Amino acid sequence: MKARENRALTAGSRTDLGCLRDHNEDSLLVKAPLYVIADGMGGHAAGEIASEIAIRTLEQAQLTHLDPDALRRAVVEANGLIVQGAKKGLGRKGMGTTLTAAIIEGNQLLVAQVGDSRAYLHQNGRLRPITRDHSLVGELISLGQLTEEEARVHPNRSVITRALGSDMSVQPDMYEIRLHERDRLLLCSDGLNSMLEDTVIEEILNLYPDPQEAADMLVGAARDAGGFDNITVIVVNIDNLEFLARSKQKRRFKRGVVGFALAFILLIGVTIGGVYGYAHNAAFLIEENGYVVLYRGLPGDFIGIELKWMERITSIPVDKLNPTTAGELKKGIQTGSLEEAERLLALYESQLNMRT
Ligand code: CA
Repeated sequence: MKARENRALTAGSRTDLGCLRDHNEDSLLVKAPLYVIADGMGGHAAGEIASEIAIRTLEQAQLTHLDPDALRRAVVEANGLIVQGAKKGLGRKGMGTTLTAAIIEGNQLLVAQVGDSRAYLHQNGRLRPITRDHSLVGELISLGQLTEEEARVHPNRSVITRALGSDMSVQPDMYEIRLHERDRLLLCSDGLNSMLEDTVIEEILNLYPDPQEAADMLVGAARDAGGFDNITVIVVNIDNLEFLARSKQKRRFKRGVVGFALAFILLIGVTIGGVYGYAHNAAFLIEENGYVVLYRGLPGDFIGIELKWMERITSIPVDKLNPTTAGELKKGIQTGSLEEAERLLALYESQLNMRT
């Protein structure tokens, strides 16, 4: 599955300390069709532990389909593990991480986000943000009280308003986007977008169609611009949308076939059960070795299964009955119940008595 996905999605990624930090608190995961960036915080090694927990939790959640509930659950689980980890002495109290996770299936992109790591869509040479930052400056921008340029130099630019690890109630924002042929997905930690304006990022993506080259060039440009923070970038090229859409359809078809087969088996079961119930109440008379025999059930068989139980062999000779009845008894005369069959037998006996 992975190899097939890779024919349609090619990714490049890079994570870098930056120019001033001595450890990297960012973590990333590139595992088609899942792409994740986490930017840890908490000082010393704690941020690294928090972002690592987040990435591993998502990796283990087997997120291979576009399932918003499953993705949301995995993010909530990662949050719980970080909160509990800090309580148990893993990392340190107050450690946390951002998380931006993307899944691509068919022509759909699903993004879950907590914090200020970003997802962008690069489409027809234009870059547009998918996510909204959960940061103080991000919220001021949303309210129209701050511009992107002012945010870049704001003294509180690193204040995050939502992060994994802060409390148990954290929920991600979810975004669903329709993709087009040759779209590109960019995920990055704030070490990239705090150093480079969106127009510069856009220009680099336009210059470098190869995703790995683009990721390398973006990180290099952020370093050249100061590189104050850790820088992490994932670039995913949607190379073959038609192929992606087809593989999604195939999976749907397979699921459909399995569903149909289960429904068919259930139907057969219900049918056999129904026929069995019906047969158990029914009865028939048939000629065997010259005499009329009474059976419960049905003459013949149902898809190879005999549904008849002998009640008794009567002393009524078939050749003494009228020829029409005798002819019918060769094949069997079906009745709705044993009582009805018994009434027929009584009738035959009275016919015999009349003849003798
Ligand atoms: Ca950062």
